[in-house]
Amino acid sequence: MKTIHFFGECMMELKPTSDNMMAQSFAGDIYNAAVYLKRCFPKLTSSVITAIGQDSISDKMLAHFETEQISTECVFRHPDKTIGIYLIETDDTGERSFVYWRSDSAARDTMRFIPEAKLAQFVSGDVFFFSGIPLAIMHAEHRNAFWSMLENLKARGLTIVFDPNYRAALWQSQQFAIAEFDKALSLSDIALPGLEDFEVLYQFSSTNDVVRHCQHLGVNEVVVKNGPASVVTCSQGEIQAHIIEPVKNVVDTTSAGDAFNGVFLGARLSGYSISDAVRYAAKAAGAVIQFPGAIAPKNEFLKAIA
Ligand code: ADP
Repeated sequence: MKTIHFFGECMMELKPTSDNMMAQSFAGDIYNAAVYLKRCFPKLTSSVITAIGQDSISDKMLAHFETEQISTECVFRHPDKTIGIYLIETDDTGERSFVYWRSDSAARDTMRFIPEAKLAQFVSGDVFFFSGIPLAIMHAEHRNAFWSMLENLKARGLTIVFDPNYRAALWQSQQFAIAEFDKALSLSDIALPGLEDFEVLYQFSSTNDVVRHCQHLGVNEVVVKNGPASVVTCSQGEIQAHIIEPVKNVVDTTSAGDAFNGVFLGARLSGYSISDAVRYAAKAAGAVIQFPGAIAPKNEFLKAIA
C-alpha cells in the first residue's frame, strides 16, 4: 500500500452559520488534501505529520483524523502548546477571507519532535508533501533540520511535492519567502502552485512564467492552478492546458486548491495519466466549493464526484 505524508498544520475551523452562531470543525491546507486523497483513494495511506496539544480539543482533532482514516502515526503531542484556530468570512460571491490565531500553535514546533539522529529514516513511504504554510510558520531554529530531512528523503527516493500556498501575512519579507520557495522547488519532483501566488510574490503574469521558473529549478511535473480559468501542466517538457468547467453554485472556495492537490496526487500515485488526474482533481475541487468550510460532508462529497 502506497503512503503519502502531509507535513504541516491542522487548526480548529470556525465558520459563521447564522447571527452570532459558529460551526466548529478542523482544517488546514495539508490536512484538507490528506482527507480528500483518502476519500477518493481509500487504498492509499494518507498520513499527517504535525504537532497538537494534550488538551481535550486536541483529542477531538485526533479523533477527527481517525474518523477520516488518516494515519496518526506521525502526530506528536506538544507538552505545553495547543492547536491554532481560524475563522472563515465569506463575501456574496463565495470568495473567502480568514482571521487566524496560530502564532503560538503546537504545529510550529513539529520539527522539534523529529530527533536530529532520526531525520534520515523518520519518514517511510512514497511521497512527502508540504506547502508554503508550514514553511512560513516553522521556527527559525528548525529550518536547517527541515531542509536536511527533505534532502534525505529525496536521496532515499521519496517523491517530494510542494504547493507554495503563499500567505503574505505569515512571512517576515517577500525576499525571504522567495528564497525559501526557490529552495523548496529545487528539491521538489512535483509542484502544485496557484497562479495567483506567483503573481503576487514573483510578479509573474502567466502560467507559462510559473512553469518556466519551476522547470528552471528542476521540477519534473508542474501543475499550475488558475481557479475556474484553467489548469496548465508541464511534465517532461510537455505543456498541456486543461479546461475547467466553471461551477455555477459557488458557496465557499475554501480548500479548492487543497482538494485538487490531494486528489491529483492520489490519482497520480494510482497510475492515472496527467489529464485524467487533473480531470478527477478538478471535479473534486468543483464539488468542495459547493459546500461551506474546508471539509465537505463525506457522503454528499462522494455523491457529487460519483
Ligand atoms: P486555491 O483554492 O488554492 O486558490 P484555485 O482557486 O486555483 O486554488 O482553485 C483550485 C482548483 O479548484 C482549480 O484548479 C479548479 O479545478 C477548482 N475551482 C476553483 N474555482 C472554481 C470554479 N469557480 N469552478 C470550477 N472549479 C473551480
